[in-house]
Amino acid sequence: MRKPFAAGNWKMNTNRKTGVELVSSLAEGASDLAGEDVTVAVCPPFVYLESIIKALHNSNIAVGAQDLYFESDGAFTGEISVAMLKDIGCTYCLCGHSERRHVIGETDELVNKKVTAAINGGLLPILCVGELLEERKSEKTNEVVTRHLEKGLAGLNDEKVLAVTIAYEPVWAIGTGLTATPEQAQEVHLFIRNLLSKMYNETIASEMRILYGGSVKPSNTAELMANPDVDGVLVGGASLKAEDFLGIIKASVQ
Ligand code: PEP
Repeated sequence: MRKPFAAGNWKMNTNRKTGVELVSSLAEGASDLAGEDVTVAVCPPFVYLESIIKALHNSNIAVGAQDLYFESDGAFTGEISVAMLKDIGCTYCLCGHSERRHVIGETDELVNKKVTAAINGGLLPILCVGELLEERKSEKTNEVVTRHLEKGLAGLNDEKVLAVTIAYEPVWAIGTGLTATPEQAQEVHLFIRNLLSKMYNETIASEMRILYGGSVKPSNTAELMANPDVDGVLVGGASLKAEDFLGIIKASVQ
């Protein structure tokens, strides 16, 4: 039985005050659900992680980073290591978000190094995969998702891969207001689960959580979550408003 998972990606938004206010409202509003019925995590900007972790210390809401660097320490100006994120109390880390792939230029090989470093250092990676609009139009969705998964998970054995959460995020649906239909989401999620089954085995595939991301709102969460292979949601814009993210958290518990 896969527990639902609602994760918020704040991207480069909020400040210390608004971020702390946001998580204080979330902690209060989700106190009866978070941890028990649904895994809840927020991924604030690096510089606010520690303030957010402190503000959430009595709650069951976990905190994740939006990125990490795969080397343990050294001359990597501007980068943040897994050990640093663990040191301040992070639990999760997004890896390969489409904005990092398509705006910053991260390759599958770099994403794989980050996923591997996260697991080896005790963080739980959320590996984002998904196709561009032109790739969907030219029926390359399965090919792209296969590449992201095979390369992103390369070298991970059965035990390590279980630390990973997959997030299917069609790039054309991120921040655009366009959401994949529940049928489109289920089709790709099932494809991903079958692929995980081939890459590993059926038990592992059935245990791994696959989140959907792309313009998720309180009003479309329940219909997405009603699909057998949609185990949760990765939310950008709507995770910045307490009322909306609380609505999504509640709707993700069926
Ligand atoms: C995201 O940033 O992962 C995302 C899905 O954004 P949005 O919900 O705004 O589309």
